[in-house]
Amino acid sequence: FIVSNVILIIGGSLVGASGIILTLLMCESMNRNILNVLKGGFGNVSNTDNEYSKDPVSTTPEDVAIRLSYAEKVIIVPGYGMAVAQAQSSVKDLTDMLKNMGIQVKFAIHPVAGRMPGHMNVLLAEANISYDKLFDMDEINDDFATADVALIIGANDVVNPAARHDDSSPIYGMPIIAADKARTVFAIKRSKNPGFAGIDNELYFSDRTWMLFGDAKHVLGELVKQLSGGSGMH
Ligand code: NDP
Repeated sequence: FIVSNVILIIGGSLVGASGIILTLLMCESMNRNILNVLKGGFGNVSNTDNEYSKDPVSTTPEDVAIRLSYAEKVIIVPGYGMAVAQAQSSVKDLTDMLKNMGIQVKFAIHPVAGRMPGHMNVLLAEANISYDKLFDMDEINDDFATADVALIIGANDVVNPAARHDDSSPIYGMPIIAADKARTVFAIKRSKNPGFAGIDNELYFSDRTWMLFGDAKHVLGELVKQLSGGSGMH
């Protein structure tokens, strides 16, 4: 029955073909060959206590709100944690708030941020964040040098500079978002746990990075609250 049903055959072929296209896209974005990706990500990385090996410096929503209020250009880098927290509508609230304060906001989208290609685009579109604010990694990476703040929301591997220079790192060779080039980096995540690749993120120990620990939706809500209470700072 199935073989004689032309619609099912065409539908099945289209699904298969799009799966292959997405897999190839992932391979390119992670700079890995297809066997490596099909075998499962980055191999046997194990961090015995499942935490970063050093202590990053943390800050508070109050301090970040003050810093944001003096910024002219902010680039937001969303990752898998934004999806887990379902924080996209809070991201939209923050974006609107910053825009109303006259601050330029852009989004830097890594092709494999999240757990499927296009994951971030879908979530941000769902929250009605205008498509012209979203930029692919290659389009926006040069912009970080003139950004006052890179605000990382639940991303980890896709902003890890080790991918550029540490040839012992499992993510070595993966193109990354250049958040480390911004003047100040704030990163929202819940804990000192690593991301998908299971490794330290050296950006999070840099002297221009401050961590905002907490669930992304909750922390963004706090930030919006602080910014609305502190109008007139910009
Ligand atoms: P990562 O998995 O590297 O990091 C996500 C971070 O989000 C974690 O470190 C986690 O830290 C944080 N997080 C989780 N839940 C929350 C929450 N509720 N609130 C705030 N933060 C949270 O994600 P990236 O997007 O940076 O990178 C994607 C990774 O997935 C890459 O390694 C990529 O190769 C891989 N991958 C991507 C695929 C794709 O097609 N997109 C497919 C397969 C793999 P904490 O636990 O401390 O909160």
